[in-house]
Amino acid sequence: MKPIQSSLKSWMQTNENFKENYLKIKQEVLNDPEISEFLTLHPQLTQAEINKSLIKLYEYKTQAKQCDQCGSYQACKNMIAGYSPVLHVENDEIRLSYEKCHSRVMYEKDQEKQKLIQSLYMPKEILQASFSDIANDETRITAIAELLDFLDQAKTDLPRKGVYFYGQFGVGKTYLLGALANELKKFNISSTLIYMPEFVREIKGSFKDDSVNEKIDYFKKADVLMLDDIGAELQSAWFRDEILGSVLQYRMMERLPVFFTSNYDLDQLEVQLATTKSGVETVKAGRIIERIKQVSKEVKIEGHNRRL
Ligand code: ADP
Ligand code: MG
Repeated sequence: MKPIQSSLKSWMQTNENFKENYLKIKQEVLNDPEISEFLTLHPQLTQAEINKSLIKLYEYKTQAKQCDQCGSYQACKNMIAGYSPVLHVENDEIRLSYEKCHSRVMYEKDQEKQKLIQSLYMPKEILQASFSDIANDETRITAIAELLDFLDQAKTDLPRKGVYFYGQFGVGKTYLLGALANELKKFNISSTLIYMPEFVREIKGSFKDDSVNEKIDYFKKADVLMLDDIGAELQSAWFRDEILGSVLQYRMMERLPVFFTSNYDLDQLEVQLATTKSGVETVKAGRIIERIKQVSKEVKIEGHNRRL
């Protein structure tokens, strides 16, 4: 009998501790200012319901409420990061649910903004380009005036024409596009920047997975399309007529702006586009140049080679 008695005693001892603990926690929970306010607001809740929901109330008490204990979403200490507990009553029962906290909402907004610049194969420095770095550069007054004009109009309505920037290698043409994309982001306008030689490779590569049409559609419909280094791509009659031609045609009809950078002015580009493996096709190249003129305005960029 003894062993049983002693185990019973020890069980009662633990049970006593358990009970003590339970009462202590219950007291703490009920004394929590927010919980006591919640209970005062819902006098219909029975003692039995409160006892039954003690674990929920305890969970509520231990979690940070709307970021009151964490500095940022990344530093969130809650069970489900970025979610804050909410107590409510449904059919006279206590319910605990979670909703997104302020920090998480801010974080998601920030992520969304990041997504406003879709770039394919662009160097990081270009994506970080800032307008303040180019603002007082005298050699590019015309170019900058064009961009400021565009930005000004974009605040109310997206202009139908972008700019065709041409000039020597290294003068900062691509950098201008990066800076513009970052400004447009501030008005929630998305830009799609692509390096032309990669555009050709990307489209050719997507035959394997049948995603060509989807990709073309994406370039057709982007808010602001930026084609970097046109003329530097490997010339193909098919790409020129079926892809570039159809993207530009669509944007022209829909009055959507396109920005370009190139080492060639439009006359020189026409010669480039005309010369493919299929021979010299001046008419077809001319058609592309016409469309480029419809969606952009030609602007020369002077200056020194910044890469030297
Ligand atoms: P391009 O496209 O005309 O060949 P880039 O735009 O690539 O020239 O510019 C050449 C280099 O100079 C890049 O490294 C770029 O980051 C830098 N750069 C261009 N413009 C500026 C600027 N206004 N401020 C700082 N760096 C710049
Ligand atoms: Mg460039």
